[in-house]
Amino acid sequence: MNVIQGIKGFLGTSLVDFPGRVAAVVFLSGCNMHCPFCHNALLLGEEGGLEDLRLDEVIGAINRRRKLLDGIVVTGGEPTCHAQLTYLLRSLRTTQLTIKLDTNGLRANILKVLCKERLVDYVAVDIKTTPERYPALLQAPPDAAEQIRETVAGLKTTSGIHYEFRTTCVPGLVTEQDIMAIARLIEGAPAYYLQQYMPIHVTHPDLKDRPPYPREVLERFQELARPFVREIGLRNL
Ligand code: SF4
Repeated sequence: MNVIQGIKGFLGTSLVDFPGRVAAVVFLSGCNMHCPFCHNALLLGEEGGLEDLRLDEVIGAINRRRKLLDGIVVTGGEPTCHAQLTYLLRSLRTTQLTIKLDTNGLRANILKVLCKERLVDYVAVDIKTTPERYPALLQAPPDAAEQIRETVAGLKTTSGIHYEFRTTCVPGLVTEQDIMAIARLIEGAPAYYLQQYMPIHVTHPDLKDRPPYPREVLERFQELARPFVREIGLRNL
């Protein structure tokens, strides 16, 4: 199958999307949330106007860079919303590169299957704020909190899959209380990263004029969460 719907972007070489690796990045369309600060808003709907890329061409481009690369990142949008994700990952496995999946964690069962079938090697889960606040703030499904808790629990009990959690520190969406709630939720996790928010593609009027937190605030968040996780860091500062 050469064209599967929803491969909307491809980046041949990235140094920042897969920790410690040089990776190609595959972008899939669709998402089950509507974050007001979505950095890839063009990928959210079918009407984004982006052409589908051919899977064989994506794999060909990866193979041509094979000597440079040691990983592939599958991102979105939200990859677990993609109907042919399993097929796509199996196809990418033919390159024998290590595969990282970026997810919002709202499809716990799908992630469980991907981990069980060893179709991914590394999972990065975005935890946007206290899970119970998702439906009101992020237009997420009503069972969002339950799904995230299941995703976290599933990763903690899956062996052989590396994973990290990360939070983009959007003012108003992420407070000290939220950091504490997230830290308690992911307690014992191997890695947690706090990312600086960059107000570039903001869609919500309330967020448009809100500047990012200063560095000191992120450092305070980092100290609050540090006791709960094995490794913690700041990104995009
Ligand atoms: S979960 Fe990610 S892709 Fe989906 S709306 Fe939020 S930021 Fe955008």
